Amino acid sequence: MERPLQPLLEISGLHTGFDTYDGRVRAVDGVDLAVHAGRTLCVVGESGCGKSVTARSILRLVEDAGSIDAGAITWHGDANDGTGEPFDILSLDPRGKRLQRLRGGDIGMIFQEPAASLLPLRTIGAQLVETLRIHTGLDKKAARARAVELLDAVGIPDPKRRIDAYPFQLSGGMCQRAMIAIALCANPSLLIADEPTTALDVTTQARILDLIRSLQAEHHMAVMFITHDLGVVAELADEVAVMYLGRVVERAPVDELFADPKHPYTKALLASVPVLGRDRGRDLPTIPGAVPSPLHRPSGCSFHPRCAAAVAGRCDTDAPPEVDFGGGRTAECVLYETEGAST
Ligand code: SF4
Repeated sequence: MERPLQPLLEISGLHTGFDTYDGRVRAVDGVDLAVHAGRTLCVVGESGCGKSVTARSILRLVEDAGSIDAGAITWHGDANDGTGEPFDILSLDPRGKRLQRLRGGDIGMIFQEPAASLLPLRTIGAQLVETLRIHTGLDKKAARARAVELLDAVGIPDPKRRIDAYPFQLSGGMCQRAMIAIALCANPSLLIADEPTTALDVTTQARILDLIRSLQAEHHMAVMFITHDLGVVAELADEVAVMYLGRVVERAPVDELFADPKHPYTKALLASVPVLGRDRGRDLPTIPGAVPSPLHRPSGCSFHPRCAAAVAGRCDTDAPPEVDFGGGRTAECVLYETEGAST
């Protein structure tokens, strides 16, 4: 029977910033998002739009270099499975047991670079066994047996031998699979995947995406997938959030986003993707300019210097309203202020 659709994680009004020699950077500037059990939310946008900082803020992995200044990140997992109440991850003791249980337990995370999470001087087996013992309470022997099963499940050939390999002895794709095995070893309710296939060749990328999809179907896991690749979005997403300069500028179910993008930034991103058979021999449109530094945020709508539809005297002065079209669709843009409900 289909389980009811309910948010597993809700982010509201999130602001995350970093101090630099040139001033405070507002990397995430008021993000609202929700991730549902069994669904995939793709967060898309160019580099520097705040996607990764949003993802890392969920697990409080930004607090060495920056700080979360405002907002709430509500975990509904305990309430959904009847073991507790919803709570704000930001209110947890940063060194406390509950945050430790969330990291790698309730929430698994995989990064673009396996080097960001695999320890180079420990075998992948040792890293898997340790994570399994922390989060599942298995003894050493049982954890090792489970580790072999997991390496097999993520498609690492000859896992009984490979379990004793060091990361440098494995290919990039194998390391990525080992990292996925570690992220999934406690059967997380939510997997956060931050550009996990960007550095891989297309064949390995397709295999990793298949793997995430099949594991998701098996465990009814929610997935938050960070990417700049709209092809990956089309393949994986149920819902999409488009980010620009620290804000979610458009949210939509995936089919609606591709069929009828609302925000000029989303339209420009989609127009810059080649379509087989249509774009042979013609130059693809590009978005003029680059994402501005969050240190020098443009006034009004932060996309206005690059926006072909910008309304002079309005978009350069006023922050755009968020227009709610219903059915999970929103866009932050003045062009729609007479449609839907504005906030
Ligand atoms: Fe373009 Fe104005 Fe809409 Fe911003 S608010 S996306 S500048 S039309």
